[in-house]
Amino acid sequence: MTPTHAQSVVILGGGPAGLTAAYRLIHHGYRVTVVAPQPLLADAPPSTPAHDSPDALTILGCHHATQALLRSLHAGLQQPTQRDISLEFRLNESTIARYPRAWFPAPLHTWVSLLRFTGLPWRERWRLVSRLERLWEGDERLPADLEQRTADEWLASIGQSAQTCRIVWNPLARWLTGNALSALSADAFITSLRPLFLSTRHESRISVVQDSLQTCLIQPITERLTTGGATILRNTGSAQFRYERDHITGVLLRNGSLLQADWYIAALPPQQLTPLLPERWLTRYAYFQQLAELVSQDGTLVHLQAEQPCASPRLILLGDTVFHSVLVTTATPDRTDFSLITTDHQLAQTRLDFNVEGLIPDMLKSLRLLRPGCRLGPIHRRTIPNAILSLRPGTKLHRPIQRSPIANLLVAGAWTDTGWPPNLESAIVSGNHCADAIALQ
Ligand SMILES: Cc1cc2nc3c(=O)[nH]c(=O)nc-3n(C[C@H](O)[C@H](O)[C@H](O)COP(=O)(O)OP(=O)(O)OC[C@H]3O[C@@H](n4cnc5c(N)ncnc54)[C@H](O)[C@@H]3O)c2cc1C
Repeated sequence: MTPTHAQSVVILGGGPAGLTAAYRLIHHGYRVTVVAPQPLLADAPPSTPAHDSPDALTILGCHHATQALLRSLHAGLQQPTQRDISLEFRLNESTIARYPRAWFPAPLHTWVSLLRFTGLPWRERWRLVSRLERLWEGDERLPADLEQRTADEWLASIGQSAQTCRIVWNPLARWLTGNALSALSADAFITSLRPLFLSTRHESRISVVQDSLQTCLIQPITERLTTGGATILRNTGSAQFRYERDHITGVLLRNGSLLQADWYIAALPPQQLTPLLPERWLTRYAYFQQLAELVSQDGTLVHLQAEQPCASPRLILLGDTVFHSVLVTTATPDRTDFSLITTDHQLAQTRLDFNVEGLIPDMLKSLRLLRPGCRLGPIHRRTIPNAILSLRPGTKLHRPIQRSPIANLLVAGAWTDTGWPPNLESAIVSGNHCADAIALQ
């Protein structure tokens, strides 16, 4: 659909949410300006060459918006290589349990896979499968108060032991949502599990895209925007909205210039959005007040390479360590890349004099991920501010929809209300919603 006269849109934020909205809107014929103070993941280790950027992307089969965007961006070209991987759990120093994938139709594959999963003691496996069967048959319903309860409390109430929570459910919750079970609402936990474990076989696929987010998504969108006539303003951020009554009339940038448009999309983290808003709106609208209830914490990524070929990519979820997962991918034909993720909360729980990086080689050896005598490269650590939205009980009510009470302002971001945990799919879905809201006016 092409508007009768080309309306203009200013998008604040050049992450996946803002860029998705921009990409969709130039297709609809809108004049788009993106304010992107820094490229996503700009703080990658300077010594990391672009071609072997370590941030391989993990996408699920149920991430339809992400898959569709990748297909559209690479239409007619070679699609980014995706390889299916299994979910593995480190049960103790020397044992890894793989979550099996049964090739039966839904829901049979869920039951067969669960019954064969040795990460759960037999009795707990059986309890879980029986419960799922009762839910499936409609003999039982999930409690109505799951958003008010923590995930660990709910798991205990359905007969999952503290040990199983520590080595299976907690790393799984951290990988899917970034949140520990004790600080995660039971509703958010179940919502994040459902598409992966309780849907069709195809939806529950986990694939690793060999290219980074930067290479397979950010860069091609940026190129399309440039060739499509969009303006991308780098090296400046947005400082404040200008307004008249309940209408935005412009956005003042940090470099002093004023941008004016018909529409504005704020695709920023919530902490960066609030300072742009007039005081009057913050006090008047519950929609904006609730942004203050959203809490995020920093995420820390650690990368290193080993001088050995990678036979196949692997994802191992780690209980009982400061890192919650390790992703093993091919860096070059004779080098393997390891990416480990943790949060500032987990780091803060370790003793100050404890050398977190020092434990990585031993951990990789105990997981048999390193060949004897194999040389490891330097360890790079980087912190991504506010990377992880807290999904503590009650948060669901505070994640805003994309339409704000201000008629020409939309809000995008992985943290908005999309029905997904705050991940890449959520960011892309939110960008699509904003573009649709404008294009369908
Ligand atoms: C290293 C890494 C690897 C990841 N891997 C995966 C993965 O494998 N699978 C997955 O599903 N998810 C992954 N994620 C999560 C996913 O990337 C995020 O959910 C996604 O980036 C969120 O997108 P967003 O656009 O909502 O927010 P962001 O990416 O945070 O973008 C917000 C943008 O706003 C900009 N900004 C801030 N303040 C201002 C201002 N005042 N004016 C203008 N702009 C401003 C910032 O510079 C930033 O570019 C990964 C994240 C990281 C960091």
